[in-house]
Amino acid sequence: MSATTIHNFSDIDFDRPGKAHYEVAFHHDGTWGNVLVPLTVIVGARGPGKTVACFGGTHGNEYEGQVAVWRLAQELDPAELTGRVILLPRFCTPACDAGTRESPLDGVNMNRAFPGNPRGSITYRMADFARRFVLDRADVVLDIHSGGRILRFPMCSSFHEVADGTQQQEMAAAARLFDTPFVMVYASAMASGLLTDEAEAMGKITIGTELGYGEATIRQGVRHAEVGIRNTLRHYGLLAGELERARPEGSPPPRIVRAIRLEDYVPAPISGVYEPTAEPGQAVTRGELVGRLYDFDYASSRPLDIRAPRDGWLLVIPFAAQVEKGQTIVVVAEDADYSAPNPLP
Ligand SMILES: [Zn+2]
Repeated sequence: MSATTIHNFSDIDFDRPGKAHYEVAFHHDGTWGNVLVPLTVIVGARGPGKTVACFGGTHGNEYEGQVAVWRLAQELDPAELTGRVILLPRFCTPACDAGTRESPLDGVNMNRAFPGNPRGSITYRMADFARRFVLDRADVVLDIHSGGRILRFPMCSSFHEVADGTQQQEMAAAARLFDTPFVMVYASAMASGLLTDEAEAMGKITIGTELGYGEATIRQGVRHAEVGIRNTLRHYGLLAGELERARPEGSPPPRIVRAIRLEDYVPAPISGVYEPTAEPGQAVTRGELVGRLYDFDYASSRPLDIRAPRDGWLLVIPFAAQVEKGQTIVVVAEDADYSAPNPLP
């Protein structure tokens, strides 16, 4: 099935039953030519329902989402679907092609570019398109990330705290559909301009993830992405069938933890080489050694002990050995609840 090239966004047909693959053209800032961003719209033959939008490749060096969303675009059958699914498997296409976090074309991080700008550089224009044409149509927004090269998380889905209690509770329940060991509630003050920030502010049920690390494609991460997206479609009535587990039967339900204070994000006191002494996802107590930071600049220097700032769950360790002064090297999260039911069997 071939893809239709789109030069005018309004030519994308979001309503015709069936499946359509598009390549959405965004012109280069400095030369003639375009970036072609793959987008698939699947409108179910079983009638109207919710719209779920799903993004992979918002960061180009995170692959589980690119793989899972790409395959879903091939496999989902409109004959079995109620409602509508909009898929962008390699959203920041220039970064995906280059295998980088930021777009090499303008140096912009797509996940800091929202709400976007129709007159901005290419990444801002792509963010603006996503906000007006995709997020605006969606009831549920999924943005599949992994740790990239810098950080390593336990497998987790994620969301921010939001003011609307109903939206909050529903997001906490929906985040469990990925069946990751952890659901992470993170600080919105740590960064702004995220795709998920924008979708949450628009009132959408919005779930992010961290499903791998090290610029690899981690098998279990792809599984969480696939099961999580399909469970979301089942939970919201787009697909028939029972919810499934991504982990073996009898695994504990996803544990909701939060790190919403800026103090929860411990910066490296010096640049150096990091040696982890604890695994992501491990329970730690306040003052426990979680890593050592080495300054190899002069002989016989002693490593700095890096300790847990509180009791809780170790949510982040550096992946790449070399860390820069100021980079977050430790996050310890506390248990949280949000009165969210666990929809998983
Ligand atoms: Zn990411």
